[in-house]
Amino acid sequence: MKAYVAQAIKTSSENRHHAITIEKTLLEVSDAEKELKWLRSAVGSSEKEYEQNQKKIAELRTELERERSEKRKLEEAYEEVKNEVMELTSENEEATIQKLQDEIKDSKAILKCGVCFDRPKEVVITKCFHLFCSTCIQRNLELRHRKCPGCGTPFGQNDVREICNSFRFSHGGA
Ligand SMILES: [Zn+2]
Ligand SMILES: [Zn+2]
Repeated sequence: MKAYVAQAIKTSSENRHHAITIEKTLLEVSDAEKELKWLRSAVGSSEKEYEQNQKKIAELRTELERERSEKRKLEEAYEEVKNEVMELTSENEEATIQKLQDEIKDSKAILKCGVCFDRPKEVVITKCFHLFCSTCIQRNLELRHRKCPGCGTPFGQNDVREICNSFRFSHGGA
């Protein structure tokens, strides 16, 4: 009986010891589960955060690309306008210079004698009002050709008058 009691006490004590161990283990498991749960949520939230960040980065990239392409378009448009303006300006300049040169050429041609194309017009044949340089007309008279080099009208010394133009206005009228 004594031995039985002793055995019972021993068993009970062992059981209690087991119960404590189990309880302790259960607590540890519970703690581990809690920790696991926390880790999972932490991982989950950081995964979510990562996804959000990736999305934000993608959005920013898209916006940056859009702004870059807009900037490029603006730069291209500016270059085009600049080139057009430059073209127009140089075209205008060229056209103006050409026009002025033509005008100068025409004016010179008008002022120069139509026989020698060298000396300025100095005399008028009063029969036809054609103008020539004095030298050419004097030669014409000396050679007794005596016909206007412009239209062939016969003329004499008395039909030749000096003109009053910007080159010879100091002479006054004839
Ligand atoms: Zn002449
Ligand atoms: Zn004439």
